[in-house]
Amino acid sequence: MHRRDFALGLGAALLPGCRVAAPPVPAPPDASAGQGAALRVGGCAFTLVPQGHDPLPLPLLRAWVERAAGMIADYYRGEFPVPGLQVTLIAGAGRGVGFGSHQDGRWVRVHYGRHSSAQHFERDWVMVHELLHATFPDLPDHQRWMQEGLSTYLEPIVRVRGGATTEARMWQRWLPRMHHGRPQSGDEGLDRTHTWGRTYWGGTLFWLMVDLQLRIATEGQRSIRDVVVAIARAGGNGRASWNAAQVCEHADAATQTTLVSTLYDQLARNPGDVDLDALWSQLGVSLSPGDAVAFDDGAPLAALRRALVRA
Ligand SMILES: [Zn+2]
Repeated sequence: MHRRDFALGLGAALLPGCRVAAPPVPAPPDASAGQGAALRVGGCAFTLVPQGHDPLPLPLLRAWVERAAGMIADYYRGEFPVPGLQVTLIAGAGRGVGFGSHQDGRWVRVHYGRHSSAQHFERDWVMVHELLHATFPDLPDHQRWMQEGLSTYLEPIVRVRGGATTEARMWQRWLPRMHHGRPQSGDEGLDRTHTWGRTYWGGTLFWLMVDLQLRIATEGQRSIRDVVVAIARAGGNGRASWNAAQVCEHADAATQTTLVSTLYDQLARNPGDVDLDALWSQLGVSLSPGDAVAFDDGAPLAALRRALVRA
């Protein structure tokens, strides 16, 4: 069965991720049809297919995809984890980047407004979110929070590292939203509670805790980056069907810890919670009433907070 997911990139008030509902699945386009433009990034052969009325010039679209793919390949230590990907870019009305979808580690589709400028594409996060889905295995429906959470967590980190956004903007987005990922009354853990908040932000919070705890336990020697690179190198990309147990097994082996499987037990099999106020205070990050992010470099975990986007 083909899986799809949808991202809405039309503004901060909208969903951070995708797959709001399961839409009817059209027949995937033929990747070998020879249409579009070719692009190679990190060993992956991208085929760009412009669609829609009056699309923007190909060099502009190509730069958009190349930049997003390049930042991801850099994060994955030089390799984009699938051999080929067809990226369909659909022109519509207005400006800015709209929603996107990913399917099977083979196809990505993203909508954009034909009045967009290069700056709209430089600021866009949807392309990075969707391309990231192609780097991680497909999981059973009840574990989809792990996939959505990973794309939502890594997208700003990849973009800060690539110079496409700032650490302050990342926290500006996370601080008011991360609480959506906490368990509410009656919650049965991430694997059994499939609300929007738990799927997107619960998944994001899971991976944030993975990243923080790995860095603390290994004194900065291991991070989520080691986990996702090891999974990709084991063939766990968007073309593979895995389950969460396999993800945990590879993550634990790659980090020589049992942290990921322990967190999975606490947050996915049980309604484990995270005290976010205490966490933000320890990391030294807060949001002022005017929505400006303030960093406290004297906080106990300030160095760890800075390392999230650097190492
Ligand atoms: Zn998504």
